[in-house]
Amino acid sequence: MLFYRQKTVNNNKLPIASLTLSQLRAALVAAGQRPFVAKQIFEAVYARNVRSFDEMTNLSAALRRDLAARYSLRTLEVAGKFDSPDGSFKLALRLADGQSIESAFLATADHGTVCVSSQVGCAMGCLFCASGEKGLVRNLAAFEMVEQVLAARDHLPPGRRLSHVTFMGIGEPLANFDNLTRALDLIHTPEGLNIGARRLSISTCGTPQGIRRLADLGRQYHLAISLHAPNDALRRQLMPAAARTPIAEIMAAAEDYCRRTTRKIVFEYVLIRGLNDQPAHARELAALVGGFPSMVNLIPLNPVSACPNLEPSAPAAVERFRAALEKSGVEVCVRRRKGAEVDAACGQLRARLDADEDE
Ligand code: SF4
Repeated sequence: MLFYRQKTVNNNKLPIASLTLSQLRAALVAAGQRPFVAKQIFEAVYARNVRSFDEMTNLSAALRRDLAARYSLRTLEVAGKFDSPDGSFKLALRLADGQSIESAFLATADHGTVCVSSQVGCAMGCLFCASGEKGLVRNLAAFEMVEQVLAARDHLPPGRRLSHVTFMGIGEPLANFDNLTRALDLIHTPEGLNIGARRLSISTCGTPQGIRRLADLGRQYHLAISLHAPNDALRRQLMPAAARTPIAEIMAAAEDYCRRTTRKIVFEYVLIRGLNDQPAHARELAALVGGFPSMVNLIPLNPVSACPNLEPSAPAAVERFRAALEKSGVEVCVRRRKGAEVDAACGQLRARLDADEDE
């Protein structure tokens, strides 16, 4: 476990990751540069992972100095890194205004997924999550989301490749819709990180309006919906803010998304001992998700200090729940807890970093 102490960056330079290629080109041309310089910079940042203008040796020294005075390549500082033996890791990241967030790299075979935060804090206040403890502080800008992917790429173990990005970190991504879609564009575009839409995933508590706006984009982004309860009463207990939207409305929006994008919808379901893991819950859930192509992702709870009374379901209860869903014809998988060895539940790094700052 490693914590770094670094001073916060706040140099009033424009983050490169806040600009599309055409915006950067326009800014450089207006400053008297030739248009192809923008593409050279994008190629250096997104394809070659260059972290300082000094390394862009295909540009003149004078231009590199000028660029360094106006733009910043990275605004996030890595304040801590927590490694898991399977190659997964979490990064505690300090933003330019001193706020902190976290991202994770979840390793699979020779590649892996970066899990990105979309907000500082979260308004949803889910009972089982440390991120909601202090409420929502602010939305992240698009560049702060893109830079999380770049920061994770900086720290990839040898031989690993970053193949997928999921917006499943701190925050409700669809509540920060414009910045989210701008970040998705930069991650997806061939001139940017060049990751295909089908490898980009948005995990939401289920805002129907946001889901429909996402479908309007006409991209095949993967959609995951954090359900966690098979009825509104139980969902209100577990996810008080999210449950203001009835499950029926979420299902209607999910079906619409599935039909318009032809993508299967994933329903996330955290299993909590004695609360939502009973056979009756499995039956209710099966009846709920059967109407269109979907799968249920069962996640044994990762215990957090936010709610010490909650416990993960016993392995036998997880298996019973999985089998009941399967018997009802539901496609289901049980997610292995990656990074659990390093204290890596959602929001825990941020809570820890903030606590250290308060000491
Ligand atoms: S689980 Fe997700 S939506 Fe719920 S409080 Fe945590 S970050 Fe927010």
